[in-house]
Amino acid sequence: MKLKFYNTLSRSLEDFEPIVPGTARMYTCGPTVYNFAHIGNFRAYTFEDILRRTLEYFGYKVTQVMNLTDVDDKTIRDSKAANLPLDTFTRKYKNAFFDDIKTLKIESAEVYPAATGHIPEMIDLINKLMEKGFAYKASDGCVYFSISKFEKYGQLARIDRDNQRDGVRISNDEYAKDAVGDFALWKAWDADDGDVAWDSPWGKGRPGWHIECSAMSMKYLGDSFDIHTGGVDNMFPHHEDEIAQSEAVTGKKWVNYWLHCEHLMVGNTKMSKSLGNFYTLRDLLDKGWSGREIRWVLIGAHYRKKLNFTFEALKLARETLGKFDEFFKRLRTVKNDGDGASAAQIVADAETAFASAMADDLNISMALAALFDLMRNINRLADENKLDRTGAEAALAAFRKFDTVIGCLEVDTVREDAAIPAEVTALAEARAIARKEKNWAESDRLRDEIAKLGYAVKDAPGNVWQLHKL
Ligand code: AMP
Ligand code: ZN
Repeated sequence: MKLKFYNTLSRSLEDFEPIVPGTARMYTCGPTVYNFAHIGNFRAYTFEDILRRTLEYFGYKVTQVMNLTDVDDKTIRDSKAANLPLDTFTRKYKNAFFDDIKTLKIESAEVYPAATGHIPEMIDLINKLMEKGFAYKASDGCVYFSISKFEKYGQLARIDRDNQRDGVRISNDEYAKDAVGDFALWKAWDADDGDVAWDSPWGKGRPGWHIECSAMSMKYLGDSFDIHTGGVDNMFPHHEDEIAQSEAVTGKKWVNYWLHCEHLMVGNTKMSKSLGNFYTLRDLLDKGWSGREIRWVLIGAHYRKKLNFTFEALKLARETLGKFDEFFKRLRTVKNDGDGASAAQIVADAETAFASAMADDLNISMALAALFDLMRNINRLADENKLDRTGAEAALAAFRKFDTVIGCLEVDTVREDAAIPAEVTALAEARAIARKEKNWAESDRLRDEIAKLGYAVKDAPGNVWQLHKL
């Protein structure tokens, strides 16, 4: 089965053909470590994790590099405000980032290079750009990339280079701003930078943001590699500028496949730090949600579609994962002997459906549908007493395999049934009596009381009830 990805460069679905067969080399723009990442950022990182895990599912050996931006305007500004040396300040947020990705079951990249550890590589690239005439030092002491010298500027974002405002010089590296035109490769030191500075052939200063990704990706992945990812907001100018710098130096095509994920939204607005409409992962953990539940929400929509964040979605995640937990528990208890024939085709169909969905540009909705179908069909067999031990094992094995991509089914985790508080059971019993007496008002009131304590009561025929944690 061929993997297909939507390549932003061609704006079309393409078969994935890696440079070295059987391997996938991939670069991911990582966090700026000046604060805790919010769950919008983690939508991008979970998308990249799903991509990575899918490549592995299909047998590719993945080498992923994710940079840590530990020097820029924001890290300098906030480390000064905190009265801490830059590296002490950023270390806290680097560590927090690694803790957070663990909580979200994001697989580790092979290399996490930090910008401050690669200044010589960046200076080397800028030197080459100067020698080749793509860069110039301006009167403000900064070195800029001249986009008019790079014929293919605008190929990714599909912008018209000639309509760029020539000569506009942007020394600010906050990419969210409307930064068009020539961009800074090296920024001359100014008083705001305090003691953050490195020597260079162009004087004391620090690198621009874009050059770090070119330098670090090529150091660890070579002059040309397979995949580059990021959120859609990274596409311009950041990725466009990365291409210009890299291809201007090597004269070769730098990256073959560009994959961009859409934003996590709140209402109709992008979740972002500057708008203040964000939750960090820690905010949600403090509210009692688990990493597993948050991951389920973040991966639940196709990566090229906007995803609206709601607490309803988290509740649904809890319910859904609870159903999977119950299902896996049920499978573990199947004891009857047999050859597994009744389940074999159902499991095989689910495996095919899952693989073809993920191969089709990571169609997660179809892949999850295959999971739900498998659960439903196997449950039906069990209800009809047609499921044997071999069939149950085959279903569990399939889910284990799916979970190498999904990452939060946790098929073999044995969960203690959380004891339902006696108070809740007593209310449910009182409600059953009220229902028997057809006292619907009292029954509704008791249902609300139960909900306030965090439980939902479900009725079955014969005045039987069940309690579920909300
Ligand atoms: P930053 O730390 O702002 O450079 O962002 C890190 C990553 O998160 C980048 O790949 C961004 O494109 C991505 N990102 C930022 N906000 C969102 C959002 N609301 N939804 C999805 N991805 C985002
Ligand atoms: Zn980057």
